[in-house]
Amino acid sequence: MLRIHFDDYEALRAHGQETYPHECCGVLLGKTTPGEDNSEAINHVHQIVRAGNTRTDSAHNRYNIAPGELIKIQRQARALSLDIVGFYHSHPDHPAQWSPTDFAEAHWLGCSYIITAVEQGKAVLTNSFLLSGTTEDDKKFEDEAIQIDIAPSLAATAQHNQKGQE
Ligand SMILES: [Zn+2]
Repeated sequence: MLRIHFDDYEALRAHGQETYPHECCGVLLGKTTPGEDNSEAINHVHQIVRAGNTRTDSAHNRYNIAPGELIKIQRQARALSLDIVGFYHSHPDHPAQWSPTDFAEAHWLGCSYIITAVEQGKAVLTNSFLLSGTTEDDKKFEDEAIQIDIAPSLAATAQHNQKGQE
């Protein structure tokens, strides 16, 4: 299961609207709670990081995060004591389902892959897929529930408080 704050969820959907008709992509930072006994693992998103789409050749149906940028984001995560728990991208005028290319390019076992369908510039359905398996050979995408936390994130609360003091 994926848990994400409402404002982060809205922000990654808005990102797909901004880059339309091209794909957007980004990284999910957070913590994974391992599944125990009958409970499933939870990827809990604490922060999302936007990434530039380097596939300028066909940015409408491919996405890619430059290796150098990913290393920078990994460092950023470590500084915050967070891990990379997933990735997100958009599908302009295509369903919120993973493509064979998405699957081939997914290598982070245990991570969540979020896909938002953007129709005519408007974000519609958002789905998440867990990359399960133990190796590259037996990996597979599983449909994953998204639990949205309505409580505002700490950053949003701080902003709100500042406004209140003015
Ligand atoms: Zn895709």
